[in-house]
Amino acid sequence: MEERLEKEKKESRKLLSIVVPCLNEEAALPLFFEETQKVLVTLREQYRYEMIFVDDGSKDGTLQVLRALAEKQQEVRYLSFSRNFGKEAAMYAGMEHAKGDYVVIMDADLQDPPALLPQMLQALEEEGYDSVATRRVSRQGEPPIRSFFARMFYKIINRMSDVDIMDGARDYRMMRRVMVDAILSMGEYNRFSKGIFGWVGYSTKWLPYENVQRVAGETKWSFWKLFAYSIEGIVAFSTVPLSIATVMGLFFCALSFFMVLVVIGKTLLFGDPVGGWPSLACMILFVGGVQLFCLGIMGKYLSKTYLETKKRPKYLLRETEKERRR
Ligand code: UDP
Ligand code: MG
Repeated sequence: MEERLEKEKKESRKLLSIVVPCLNEEAALPLFFEETQKVLVTLREQYRYEMIFVDDGSKDGTLQVLRALAEKQQEVRYLSFSRNFGKEAAMYAGMEHAKGDYVVIMDADLQDPPALLPQMLQALEEEGYDSVATRRVSRQGEPPIRSFFARMFYKIINRMSDVDIMDGARDYRMMRRVMVDAILSMGEYNRFSKGIFGWVGYSTKWLPYENVQRVAGETKWSFWKLFAYSIEGIVAFSTVPLSIATVMGLFFCALSFFMVLVVIGKTLLFGDPVGGWPSLACMILFVGGVQLFCLGIMGKYLSKTYLETKKRPKYLLRETEKERRR
């Protein structure tokens, strides 16, 4: 009787899913696993948990490490992609396979401190939030030029888009099941999570913390990769750039009208002096440049639309822990 009661009590525990995207993290993974275990052990009384590692087409021994972990521990699951699909796809896949009442996304490099997990759970359970997100308040150890561009990016995108995108927000975030389902229902191929999290709404608590250096391996983001990613973000969550052509067109119409008046006035007053072709050449080049720029913006949106209409899968699986456990 007592045993049964004990069992029932255990099964009423809520399930916490930890989603971990991994690209070439063989060095960091064992450390990550060990550190998270330390925290999870303290939560065992109240929560069951599962860890879903998503191997995003790693070229090193990441998959071997994951196989070994899954063999050792029932709670470890993994998904292995057929190639690198990007962190966004990895997060989506992880959330799609997560069964938990709460889902948390964590990087494998321990830049997302596991020590915050109990605090996050508390905010969801007791304070009634739907999600708890984290943001870095310092960018220590980052090249200053990168920090500068990052700040600029947040300023620009928040002006251009209705969606709130928090400066310094990490992807380290714990969510209730309703919010996870909402995010999964956004089936777009070009995923920009920072925007998606904002777009779905729900009440979010922000936990600030100091930047932590990664424990092993190196960052997968070069400056240009980040730059391209920020453009993706703007295209995905704002249509303001599309109206740039209209605004510039209006501006140049007004300017040319004014110049016509100036030229007529000058001719009437001073006769018709020949010359001025260099300025003419400059103007033609300038306006030509502006036109190409606007065409480029339209092309960007068109290419995104084109890719969305193809409805390609966001990721392809090669192996999961299920096949191995059979
Ligand atoms: N990552 C991934 N696929 C990618 C790039 C990164 O799954 O194409 C993972 C990576 O293994 C790590 C997390 O995403 O767990 C964050 O990557 P990283 O630490 O390189 O980014 P940073 O913390 O420097 O922004
Ligand atoms: Mg990192």
